[in-house]
Amino acid sequence: MTRRVRVLAAAALAASLAGAAPERAGQADRIFVGGRVWTGETGRPLVEALAVRGTTVLAVGPNADIRKLSGKGTDVVDLRGRLVVPGFIDGHLHLLGGSLSLEELRLDDAETFAVLAQRVKDWAAAHPDAHWVNGEGWTYAAFPDGLPSRLQLDALVPGRPAFLVSYDGHTGWANSMALRLASVTRDTADPPGGVVVRDAKGEPTGVLKENAMDLVGRLVPKLLPHEKERALRKGIAQVAAWGLTSVHQAGIGEEDLELLSRTLDAVPRLRVYVALDMEREPTADVLARQDELRRRFASDRLRVGAVKGYVDGVVEARTAAMFEPYVGGGTGLPSWTQEELDRAVAAYDKAGWQVALHAIGDRGIDMALTAFERGARANGTTGRRHRVEHLEVPRTADLPRFKAAGVIASTQAMFPYPNRNHLDVYVPTLGPERARRALAFKAIDDAGAVQPFGSDWPVFTAEVVRGIACAVTRTTVEGTPAGGWEPSQRLTVEAALRHFTRDAAFAEHAEAQKGTLAPGKLADLVVLSQDLLTIPPERIKDTKVLLTVLGGQDTWRAKDF
Ligand SMILES: [Zn+2]
Repeated sequence: MTRRVRVLAAAALAASLAGAAPERAGQADRIFVGGRVWTGETGRPLVEALAVRGTTVLAVGPNADIRKLSGKGTDVVDLRGRLVVPGFIDGHLHLLGGSLSLEELRLDDAETFAVLAQRVKDWAAAHPDAHWVNGEGWTYAAFPDGLPSRLQLDALVPGRPAFLVSYDGHTGWANSMALRLASVTRDTADPPGGVVVRDAKGEPTGVLKENAMDLVGRLVPKLLPHEKERALRKGIAQVAAWGLTSVHQAGIGEEDLELLSRTLDAVPRLRVYVALDMEREPTADVLARQDELRRRFASDRLRVGAVKGYVDGVVEARTAAMFEPYVGGGTGLPSWTQEELDRAVAAYDKAGWQVALHAIGDRGIDMALTAFERGARANGTTGRRHRVEHLEVPRTADLPRFKAAGVIASTQAMFPYPNRNHLDVYVPTLGPERARRALAFKAIDDAGAVQPFGSDWPVFTAEVVRGIACAVTRTTVEGTPAGGWEPSQRLTVEAALRHFTRDAAFAEHAEAQKGTLAPGKLADLVVLSQDLLTIPPERIKDTKVLLTVLGGQDTWRAKDF
């Protein structure tokens, strides 16, 4: 007996038990008919129609069967051939940072220095009262040497301190006034895990890598709670419009968690799975405090379940930890010794936490996997579903370790986006051998790993359709390079959908509740303007989200739907 027949039989039985009431038990509140439903379920991925009752999916199946579940008061949605998919789940983003990026000085897509300079000047002119000019999003490719200098920024912002952070959040660019206020001089020592970049004469150039960013960053005025909350409300509405029903917050402090909780109460349009900031020394006190948060935030709207730490940095700044030197030198900076990392991971593993580790270089990824393997062995634990975040440049031989150790491969669909930064800085910094195994999503799938897709918003947009387009075509929206960058790693649309739904649900231990569309699962779903599964890949990017439904309630509806 198929699942569909079972559900319908159960509905019929319930109806007969209720007598000949006009509102049959099992009647749907809403049905979606006349289109295609990609359920994400193995064995039954595509059906014609779907019924919702209350907060959950009542049934999926052929139009005729689903229509039988409608009655007086049932809302009938005629899909007219459009596609329904499970609500998208972003496996890695920064909700507050992303939300703030909607209002801040953003330098994304400023591919040349001229465009970037104009944007900084325009923002400064439009905000004469801002004490600081600070913003984010510049790419290394906008500078001839791959890195900016304070002199360039002095010319753009002469009268105020300015501090601009790179798109990946790992490198800061200060002007001379900001350096002066922070007392950063030729005599300033590099802080642990950071670099004050200097010119040939030993003077700071204005570039601050990794932990050195704090030298200036700590002076940038902090936003007030009401300013953050206003941004967060806007951000939640925005991600709902992108078709997201759940997101994984990659690291957060207690204060921002409280803010997030308050805001989600006021704007209940999203489910958030939270990784707290990982502590380097998870003492009994630290674990007790974090456990209290885990107990307090345990609803399907806001759930704390993981901690997130960093093993290394990023490729472009040559801070991701590599076995072999970068083109241009250096092997990166792991922020732990293996022993320190093993100890912290084992303590969290023992206390029942999922541990998510940012690891990008092949050496950093090996360190993270090793810590997970050793932690499980030492504690005799299984099924923690620890996660490596980004895993951009793994050794090919390390890929099977993900499946073997049950470690989640948390990647970001837009990371291989082949813009100038990617082709002119990222790829040459790695060199050809490593570039070929970088961001190899197909190889990760082929190794049997669970691979949730995220955006790392605000590093890249959290617009899921853009992420799917990138993973499937490996080109820019303009279609370059022809055929895609490293085309052997292109994914099918089904695989990309699975990574943004089912795999991401699994990565937060929630596959029983969401990630696919099946009877009894949460009615988290999206209606898309075109059928991703049949259109040519180059048209995916033009797909619109027409409707987003969270637990049966609309969180976004396009005007023309
Ligand atoms: Zn991140």
